[in-house]
Amino acid sequence: MHDGTFVKVTKRSPEELWQAIKSDAPDLWFCPHPFEHLYNDNAGHWALCCRAYPMDHQVGDTTPEDHWKHPLMDDIRREMLSGKLDLVRKYCWKCLKMERDGLASPRQQLNAALLKKKAPGQSKMLDVASRLTHNPDQAAIGEGRTLELKLRVFGNYCQLRCYMCAPLNSSSRRQELGEIRDGHWLRCFANPEKTDFFESDEHYDRFLDSAMRLLPWVKKIKITGGEPFLLPRHHKFIERVLASGHAGKIRLSYDTNMARFHLGSANVLDYLKHFKAVTLAVSIDDLGARNDYIRYGSEFEGVIANIAQARTFPGINVVVSCATGMLNAGDVPEIAEFFHERGLEAKFNMCVINGPIFLQARHLPDALKEQYLPKLEASPHRARFTNVIRMIQQPRDESQYQIFLQYLDDLDQHRGTSWLDLWPEFKPHSRRSGSDSDSALSQVIPQPA
Ligand code: SF4
Repeated sequence: MHDGTFVKVTKRSPEELWQAIKSDAPDLWFCPHPFEHLYNDNAGHWALCCRAYPMDHQVGDTTPEDHWKHPLMDDIRREMLSGKLDLVRKYCWKCLKMERDGLASPRQQLNAALLKKKAPGQSKMLDVASRLTHNPDQAAIGEGRTLELKLRVFGNYCQLRCYMCAPLNSSSRRQELGEIRDGHWLRCFANPEKTDFFESDEHYDRFLDSAMRLLPWVKKIKITGGEPFLLPRHHKFIERVLASGHAGKIRLSYDTNMARFHLGSANVLDYLKHFKAVTLAVSIDDLGARNDYIRYGSEFEGVIANIAQARTFPGINVVVSCATGMLNAGDVPEIAEFFHERGLEAKFNMCVINGPIFLQARHLPDALKEQYLPKLEASPHRARFTNVIRMIQQPRDESQYQIFLQYLDDLDQHRGTSWLDLWPEFKPHSRRSGSDSDSALSQVIPQPA
């Protein structure tokens, strides 16, 4: 790691930074996340965001405060403010690759949202970044509330087994994959063994103490799981935020499947109403039975009813996140329209499935791509799924498609389901029509010892 002293940073006011981001100035490669976002991944590693390469330090050995002032974070901020990239090439490789491939990267989408919503003088985050251009040795913390906490430390219990989910994010998914092919798919999903990052409850409490000390600078807390509403540690965390007296200044946001969200239960309402605002980002990946296959264990009508109930409470905003890959890429226009008719915004661009690779929509058979693309292009909601279109347009790899087929056949055999009954358009392109995937499969799945 270098110490950043050789990186020349142009001094800029918040207004000048805003203009430089807008004009894509060559001496800047800006992303808001390193200046406002604290995130750890599902293996316990600190990272710049959920798309970034994980850092070596972990929540078990580095508190939120120490992570925020970590020398690596300082060096990355300096690089972004100088445009001279070195470490960023490693940690933000996904955004760099997407931009090279002509896709709108999360970084670009975040910058576009920043430029759209805020005048430069109103952005405390830009103020922090501006002060760092004048004095890079300052702490990356401002006068007001600039920080977003997205901590994945509350556990991974989830009752669903979504077909694209990393097993570390769902205990049920992890268990199911462990039961199929002697755990071959579990190993294929690169799943580390460790699911709790803290040696003891005292250790966890020390971590929380540090998070609590940051609360005067926190504007947003994002809770993710597992399924957050089913995680006791999450309730304990929220109780401590309430006791701190800061909740009324903080926006609370959840990634939730809403499958067992009973808003009528007193304890949930008791705490949600104390926050400045609450957003429920509900994961729904298709309509009806197709959704319930992709998000196995979910019940579409029940989720829709829970959303309707949640929306009756003032201060609660609901959005829909749709992770798009092989099975649902062709359904995106209908999904967008379904929620549009109900006054809900379904988001696609930030949730295109990149991993596992064999679930990327780029590997769809050409005949299906030809069927899907005109429909997506003609949709009035096209702007919401530009990245889905670009993903489909990328070159396919037949061996990845064969792995996808084997994976679904294995899930079906285990569950007693039939994905081809739900997606008959795949029948002419299925293994049952005569393809042989064994050689492709052996490339990615470890064979039994
Ligand atoms: S540039 Fe991309 S990967 Fe890096 S922090 Fe920003 S959004 Fe995350």
